This record gives sequence, structure tokens and C-alpha cells, in this order.
Amino acid sequence: MSAKKGKISREKWNNNFMDWFSDILLKAEIIDYRFNLKGCGVWLGYGFNLRKRVFQILRDLLDNTPIPHEETLFPLLIPEPLFMKEAEHVKGFEDEVYWVTRGGSKQLDINLCLRPTSETVMYPMFKLWIRSHQDLPIKVYQIVSTFRYETKTTRPLIRVRELTTFKEAHTVHATAKEAEDQVKEGLEIYSKFYDRLGIPYFINVRPDYDKFPGAEYSIAFETIFPGDHKTLQIGTVHNLGTIFAKTFDLTYEADNGEIKFVHQTCYGISERAIAAVVTQHGDDAGLCLPPEVAPIQAIIVPIIFKGKEKEILEQSKNLLDKMNSLGIRAKLDDSDISSGKKFYKWETKGVPIRIELGPKDIEKKQFIVVRRDTGERITLDFKEGAKKIPKILEEIQKDLHERAKILMENSIKETDDYDELYDLIEKRVGIVIVPLCDEYDCAEQIEKRTEGKIIGTPIKYVKEFSKEYSEKEFNFNCIVCARPTKKKMIIGRSY
Ligand SMILES: [Zn+2]
Repeated sequence: MSAKKGKISREKWNNNFMDWFSDILLKAEIIDYRFNLKGCGVWLGYGFNLRKRVFQILRDLLDNTPIPHEETLFPLLIPEPLFMKEAEHVKGFEDEVYWVTRGGSKQLDINLCLRPTSETVMYPMFKLWIRSHQDLPIKVYQIVSTFRYETKTTRPLIRVRELTTFKEAHTVHATAKEAEDQVKEGLEIYSKFYDRLGIPYFINVRPDYDKFPGAEYSIAFETIFPGDHKTLQIGTVHNLGTIFAKTFDLTYEADNGEIKFVHQTCYGISERAIAAVVTQHGDDAGLCLPPEVAPIQAIIVPIIFKGKEKEILEQSKNLLDKMNSLGIRAKLDDSDISSGKKFYKWETKGVPIRIELGPKDIEKKQFIVVRRDTGERITLDFKEGAKKIPKILEEIQKDLHERAKILMENSIKETDDYDELYDLIEKRVGIVIVPLCDEYDCAEQIEKRTEGKIIGTPIKYVKEFSKEYSEKEFNFNCIVCARPTKKKMIIGRSY
């Protein structure tokens, strides 16, 4: 397989994965967390550009479904009575909400919370918009900051107090069936999104006690960090059923005049998507960005020699023009620093290919392409070579995805042996899938004896969403109590 060629060093990276991660975000000029407020960072120009490209993919996917999602913008502040309306929802966010209690020096009559998510902002408005079934479905989304008063240790892009990039989609439907179909569309959108970023994922249904507050059920996308094999939740899709509809009195008049409650879904993705891009593809030298989202796809570094400066620079500019006209995001680094320093700088920033052009290359009418992911050097002919670069970028995109997929698959184990489960968890191989019954005691016993927690049920073991499910075959015995069960659960450590 082509992903195997070339070398990738992750030694430094593996030894202290989280340090590498925090360090590289600043060095590569993605985000700067030195602002004097815990869990709040500053997107830098290069990082913002990357963020824009990543979320544009998501926008395009949402805007182009058969019934498109519309991008909207709702207020940030939620009056307390609205937020407190749905009991389960409140319970879920109780300790995480920031409150605005004063306007100037005056105490406010009604406290306002900074949205942790926008159900209670949007749904009172939906009530004004829905009269008959003709007003349905509603499919909206927004990409906004949300706030959580995070008391645990904060982590760049992963556990923050201001989520700067929360894409939340909310939909309203006439029937339960339509809502269920919408959940499937949500899963499809997210799958396509992460495929385009070359990020491997597994999908699971959250345990009941860990679902989104106010949801009937929640489905999560998770990826596994190649460095420490911990899982990271990178997207969620919730079926809200009629829970919020009943709270906010969201009804419509059906064809026969009957008044019915609507059915709702919501699904979210945050800047954790960027964390996944950084961690799935990076190495000791820094970022390694998928060409699809790299702000710069090719950096031209002229190798300047005395007496040849003019000619080399001229040819470099020539090549830059050729590449730009081919739609490649190329840049020429003609700054005053040494070539070595330039190599280091652009490697850290994860530019997929570097182009070297020195006096010997000029003589031979050629230039050298160096792949960031494998270090492979490719010599191309000056006249026609630029045309081959889009193909090389495509290969890098594909190879990064393949490499990440193989790594993730290697850290997923399945067993029905009790001792093996503990052995695997102890060795921190990744996640372990085991048969488990519905008894809370069995789950608790596993969680108590390991650092792992129950993450969810792999989607292939869930009848409603599985292509592989078969009633006959899916008979297991609980790994703890040996009672018959149809369920398998994922055990792992997570962020
Ligand atoms: Zn059991």
C-alpha cells in the first residue's frame, strides 16, 4: 500500500502527546492560548485560514442536501426563564453556564445566560414560524461561539470555555419517521465531512445516562488520538423526539385539522474537528495538513547561490505563476532567512509539498518536489512538471487518510474474554468492544476496575442504523455476568 512508503517519525510526539499538541498549535501559528483567561484562545491568521477551509466543507455539505439547511444567526444571550424551561436540559448544563446578571451597575431584572447551545433560543422562534405542516420541515444551522464554564483542566481546541466554532444544526419535522431520516442525513453529512478531512472515526450510540440532555437518543462520532489512544468525540447527532416540542408548545395543524407536536433533531460539530486534523496527521516535525484544507498547498523555496540569484528567483516566480494558474494554492518564500530555516518553518506549518529550485536544477531545466508526509523527493521537468502537482496533492490527501485509518483500526480490539479486556485496557491499546448486558452493575464493575469508561454501542450493533444487523446472529453473553445480551459496548479512555 502506498501509505507505507516513506518514513514518519512520531517518537517525540508519542512520548508526550498533549505537550506536542499544545506546542505545535502555537509554533504552527494556529491558535494562541496565552490570553489571560483560562480556556480562551486567539485564532491566528494561518489557523483562521485553516479553520475557514475546514468549516467551508461543512457549510457546503449542509447547504446542498436535497432540502437545504439554511445558515442563520440567533442571539447569544438567553433569558433565564427560557433557559430553565426544559428540566432535563437545565440539569445537563446546570454547572456549566455563565450568567450575565448586571447591566452597567444595575442588577438585571432577568438574568441572561451565555448560550451553551441554542435549543432554548431557537425553539421559541420556531413556535412563531410554524402554523401548518406546510411550514415544515425547518432546517437551520449557525456557526457561532458558545460558552461552557469548564472546571476541569482545559485543553487547546478540546476542552475550552469559549468554543469559538460551534456548528449547530436544528431541524423540525412533522413526523417521527422524518426526524429519524434526518438523523440519518446528519450521520451522512458528518461522515462525508470527516472523510474529506482524512479523519478516521467510529460511530456509536451513547448510553442512556450519557445522552444529550433533552434528547431521546444521541449518536456520536469519535476518533482515536494516535499518540495516546484516547478517544475524542468530534460530532454528535441527537434525536430530540417531541421532548422540546412539548416544552415549547411547538405544534402544527395537519391536513385533517388535527393539532400535532413536531419532531426535532439537532447535531453539532466544534473546533475539535481542527484538533482532529492536527493530531491525526501530524508528526515530530509538526503539522501535516491534508491538501484539501491546507492554506498553502505548495511552498517554493529557491536555493539561492551567489551569481545565480536573479535567474533562480525569476524561474521561481515563473513556476509560481504556472501553479497559481492551475488553481494550486502556491507561495514563493523569497524572504531573507536561510533555506534550512525555511524548510523547518513550512514543515512545522504542515504545507503538503515543498518545491526546491537551485542552480543545478536550473541547468537541468527541472525542479524538486518534496512530500511533507513521506519526505519523498520527486524530480519534475520545468516545462510540463507543474501539471503533475495536482495529482501529487491528490495522492497525499488519499495516503494521509489511509495511514490514519490503518492506525485507528489497529487501536480497536474486540473480545469476549473478561481477563483480556483488562489486559487490553491496561496496555492502553485504544478501545475495546465487548458484549455487555443492560445491568448497570456490569457497566459499573468495568468502569471501577479500569480507567476506561463506557463510550457507547458501535453503530453496527444497533438495529435501526446498521447495515449488518441480523437478529439471529447478534446473540452474545455479557462479559461480566454471562447473561444473554444483544448489546456490545465500547470501553476506552477519552478526553
Ligand atoms: Zn451483565
